[in-house]
Amino acid sequence: MNIFFFIFKVSDPLFLKKTTKMKNTIGTLALLFTFLGLSAQTHSHSGAQPLSYPNIDGYVTLKTDLHMHSVFSDGKVWPTIRVEEALRENLDAISLTEHLEYQPHKEDIPHPDRNRAYHLAMEEAKEHDLLIIPGSEITRSAPVGHNNAIFITDANELLHEDAKDAFSTAKKQNAFVFWNHPAWYAQSPAGTPILSDFQKERIKKGELHGIEVINTVDYSEESLALALENNLTIMGTSDIHGLIDWSYTQKGNHRPITLVFAKEKSIEGLKEALFAGRTVAVYNELLVGKAEYLKPLLQTSIEIVKAEYIGKTQVLEVELKNISSSDLLFENAMGYTFYDSSPVFGISAGDTKILKIKTLEKLNTLVLKLEALGAYTAPKIHPMIEWTIKVE
Ligand SMILES: [Zn+2]
Ligand SMILES: [Zn+2]
Repeated sequence: MNIFFFIFKVSDPLFLKKTTKMKNTIGTLALLFTFLGLSAQTHSHSGAQPLSYPNIDGYVTLKTDLHMHSVFSDGKVWPTIRVEEALRENLDAISLTEHLEYQPHKEDIPHPDRNRAYHLAMEEAKEHDLLIIPGSEITRSAPVGHNNAIFITDANELLHEDAKDAFSTAKKQNAFVFWNHPAWYAQSPAGTPILSDFQKERIKKGELHGIEVINTVDYSEESLALALENNLTIMGTSDIHGLIDWSYTQKGNHRPITLVFAKEKSIEGLKEALFAGRTVAVYNELLVGKAEYLKPLLQTSIEIVKAEYIGKTQVLEVELKNISSSDLLFENAMGYTFYDSSPVFGISAGDTKILKIKTLEKLNTLVLKLEALGAYTAPKIHPMIEWTIKVE
């Protein structure tokens, strides 16, 4: 009989630890009633901070969080709350990835069918345009670590003593499998991922397809390097156990997500895009992805509102609007300089910025060229974004 040794990943907001248990309970109840009250009266789930990112050429941009927990493993909420949170944030797809092997609530919630959280979420989401992806977290100590298998057909079949059997069963179910928080210091004390023979073998056998570069609030450049070296899909997830509102929204943050560039919004469309590696991981102003997807995303995230010269001068005013939910940070990469702005400037989500560009002579078209400082296509590498602007 194998005993699984692993450490439970604590991702509670700090302030929770400082409050008493009683306060927690009252707070939870108050919040739950707020959710229920809202949905009973209006059946609308628009939250204070719905997420929005533009489509890119040829693809629809799906906002996904494919790693989360409920009371059916070590999470603290019923699966329906995960659905309501996702609707409030305008997500397109979620997966409840309960630990298959770690079941701390088993005495209170017997759990013979490991598909239960998925079914409850499906029922809750049936009247909404939210995709629920069946998933499970295969949970071991290092070097195997934690891995999510999604698009599975039966979670129960993934319960094996030997992790290798869990992976081969996931492959038989045509699952997309990604390595979770590979840089987590509880499993890798240096805080950097270690690609062991186990992962190398899984990659070779086509049993491991993606890797989290962002998990909760942790970003690992080393995981990004591994993704690029091994052609693994770049993922970002919340791995939420408590409430999204307490862990992220109240602190002025959005949950980490993976933007997936799909041919259509459907389970099959999402799956095809994940296997093809068409993703950008996002946490607030941090955007991480392959250049071929990150560059068009940033390009379409900035709309050129107007471009005209100030009177008889050669100073061109260009108004930019950030239509994404990420605050974007840029540095001027043109030969031309700015009249009244630092070469480094930010445009908050939904905000506009007027650049005054000294073009020295009057131009009919300008190629605006900016380096996106908050975005990474590889460790330490920012993408260069261009907009061809017609002057009015
Ligand atoms: Zn985990
Ligand atoms: Zn997890």
